[in-house]
Amino acid sequence: MPVSSPTTLLAPQSGTAVQLHRGDTLAIIDTTGGQVADLAFFSAADLLESFAPGRTIDYLERIKLRVGDSLYSQRSNELATVTRDDVGVNDMLLAPCSQAMFAKRGEFGHASCHANLTASLASFGIGPHAIVATLNVFMDVRVDADGRVTIHPPPSRVGDRFELRAQRDLIVGITACSSELTNAGQCKAIAYEVVAHRD
Ligand SMILES: [Zn+2]
Repeated sequence: MPVSSPTTLLAPQSGTAVQLHRGDTLAIIDTTGGQVADLAFFSAADLLESFAPGRTIDYLERIKLRVGDSLYSQRSNELATVTRDDVGVNDMLLAPCSQAMFAKRGEFGHASCHANLTASLASFGIGPHAIVATLNVFMDVRVDADGRVTIHPPPSRVGDRFELRAQRDLIVGITACSSELTNAGQCKAIAYEVVAHRD
């Protein structure tokens, strides 16, 4: 029987982490439009097992997820499956923004997804070096014929949703992305819901 949690708002440039049981659904909801959420996935049974974009791209033979696609771990296990995608724009090529990345651009002490994921996942025993790859929901990353990568404003609008069903017990880090460049010039809030399935 599905049990929906209340909608939780993540403040701009912040993060959190949730536990999902197999069968639970995680929904990301854009509450203002044009905002990205980075998701970091770990198997609750073994935290060394995590989302592997390279494996996922290999199996899908695409760099964008569609409804029905699964995210794979580095051990080729399915972690979660996309069940709803109102926008059809997401990214799994780029790493979460980090303080070191901003420092390279001369922006020191900038809030970042990596720092927010680190703070949120610490209580589950997941350290900063384990946070390598994320699924970046609503992020518009394009690759041209020469391989050049560019970031465009997220096309998501108010109320757009992206949903995944857990294929095993998971720990998931979630951020309201902290990069102005990624979020059409302004970092905004984003919301999430967990719909639990209990037999
Ligand atoms: Zn970010």
